[in-house]
Amino acid sequence: LTLAGGLIMGLAACDAPADTPAGEAAGGDIESVGISMPTRELERWINDGEQLKANLDDAGYTTDLQYAENDTDTQISQIQNQIASGADVLVIAAIDGSVLSPVLQDAADEGITVIAYDRLINGTPNVDYYATFDNYLVGQLQGQYIVEQLDLDNQEGPFNLEPFAGSPDDNNAKFFFSGAWDVLKPYIDEGKLVVKSGNEPTSNDDWASVGIQGWESAGAQDEMENRLASFYTDDKVDVVLSPNDSLAQGISEALVSNGYTPGSDWPILTGQDADKASVINILADKQSMTVWKDTRKLGEQVFTMIESLKAGDEPEVNDEETYDNGEKVVPSYLLQPEVVVKDDVQTKLIDSGFLTAGDVGL
Ligand code: BGC
Repeated sequence: LTLAGGLIMGLAACDAPADTPAGEAAGGDIESVGISMPTRELERWINDGEQLKANLDDAGYTTDLQYAENDTDTQISQIQNQIASGADVLVIAAIDGSVLSPVLQDAADEGITVIAYDRLINGTPNVDYYATFDNYLVGQLQGQYIVEQLDLDNQEGPFNLEPFAGSPDDNNAKFFFSGAWDVLKPYIDEGKLVVKSGNEPTSNDDWASVGIQGWESAGAQDEMENRLASFYTDDKVDVVLSPNDSLAQGISEALVSNGYTPGSDWPILTGQDADKASVINILADKQSMTVWKDTRKLGEQVFTMIESLKAGDEPEVNDEETYDNGEKVVPSYLLQPEVVVKDDVQTKLIDSGFLTAGDVGL
């Protein structure tokens, strides 16, 4: 079965989602929610955590919000503490989606319902729901933006493209890359886009070869510096596919230090999150776009899921085929991301209250 424009899913091999989530088995008696977020380093996770906590606190739940500063062991011990303190629901944005099976077995043994937040948790049957944005669409939007900006259907190029991907331990990263690569690869095959550095994944499955561990800006900056120094002494890079804003910020620093000028020879540079620093860069022509995921909506969705569990109902999902975690297809609720460019900053980000004018120096 082929889904989402090219991702091959082994649905037939998977069991149907569990009929009775642990929370329901506990009689819908839900009072206490543990929220486990990856890091305070990237602004979005601060917003995500605080927003969800505020929704839950206002509705009378007891909450415990923890940040693990991108350290897997810290995240596991924080979750263990939340289990020990009597959480009824765990909401987890995993740092490494492949290492939580043992702690989630403990959670299942206690009848706790687990909601994977933004990032899927792999290799365990003990994840009940997944709430996220359509991750494949994020990548497609980045790819389509590049195609439109370069007018690749009418122009021959060739244009120099440098691709980057997210952290190899984050399940989302492969979806972002696949979405973008499915759009861009035909133009590479036609010779309209050229990856001069040779950092060209041979297929979607090879995405981690251009991945930046931990989504670190500094890692992306170093990698971009290396590529520019080795392959662009006599030529310019025209496009950089960056999966998110933290990488785009590092790439932008590397472009500055190599003499690229915003508004002149600055390459097309993609991003994701509408992080303040990146929106400031968009206004200064140092980043071309960001894929905005209104994290307030994700928080509301997860809040609604928890309210359903409390009422003893099955939470609403809108995708039951895409997110196979190796043990089961996790019932998911996917929200829609959207592109933001310079002209949209006021109308989409500020008018909606996502950012203030002051946040971005307007
Ligand atoms: C999230 C992105 C974020 C990245 C780095 C991904 O899992 O979906 O929004 O930019 O992690 O934190």
